[in-house]
Amino acid sequence: MIDTRFPSRKGQVLVLCAPSGTGKSTLVKSLRGEFAEVGFSISCTTREPRQGEAHGREYYFLSVEEFKTKRDAGEFAEWAEVHGNFYGTPKKPVEKMLFKGMDILFDIDFQGAMQLMETMSDGIFVFLMPPSYSELKARLEGRNTDSAEVIGRRLRNAMSEMASAPQFEYWIVNDDLDKAYSELRSIYLAGKNRPCTNPGLLESILSTWE
Ligand code: 5GP
Repeated sequence: MIDTRFPSRKGQVLVLCAPSGTGKSTLVKSLRGEFAEVGFSISCTTREPRQGEAHGREYYFLSVEEFKTKRDAGEFAEWAEVHGNFYGTPKKPVEKMLFKGMDILFDIDFQGAMQLMETMSDGIFVFLMPPSYSELKARLEGRNTDSAEVIGRRLRNAMSEMASAPQFEYWIVNDDLDKAYSELRSIYLAGKNRPCTNPGLLESILSTWE
């Protein structure tokens, strides 16, 4: 549902970034479940679908050639190579959702987030951290979705992902899922009250002055 109190409200961009296994997908699901006005950007990827994933729902699963063709045609708002696969955000759906005044949640890696910091500077950039390395390792091993080799690579990459945290506006430590969600929710809601998401609001109220 779009906020009809202020018809000129602009959709806000919320970027959530985290090392894989930090609990990002769960938080994304919770925010989308609670707020119908939060659209989600479905990315393209060259990685293999995991069990239960569907083309066009979690991702658009593309071959490397298909991905490169789209990338070279400028169809991505950002793209990056993550854990040995390509990932990219299709530009058009994002533009459409923002035009309709919907908010958009991006679940992307730090390289992509840094590209969006340049082009979507009004966005809210949140970095989610695990409480410790051992906790991250236990979570990745416990979810039983990836091979030992994939888990090893994701753990090695987590270090450089953590090193990007100072570029982000907000940090959330996921040591307790409910607390982490409540923090993300507060950041999202506070974003709705920024002047940049409400262009025209001040003017419309001032126009009522005698
Ligand atoms: P997974 O393969 O576990 O779904 O995602 C691996 C990583 O790729 C996650 O950190 C996820 O946020 C990131 N990712 C997913 N989609 C995109 C995208 O469109 N662009 C970028 N840069 N990263 C993405």
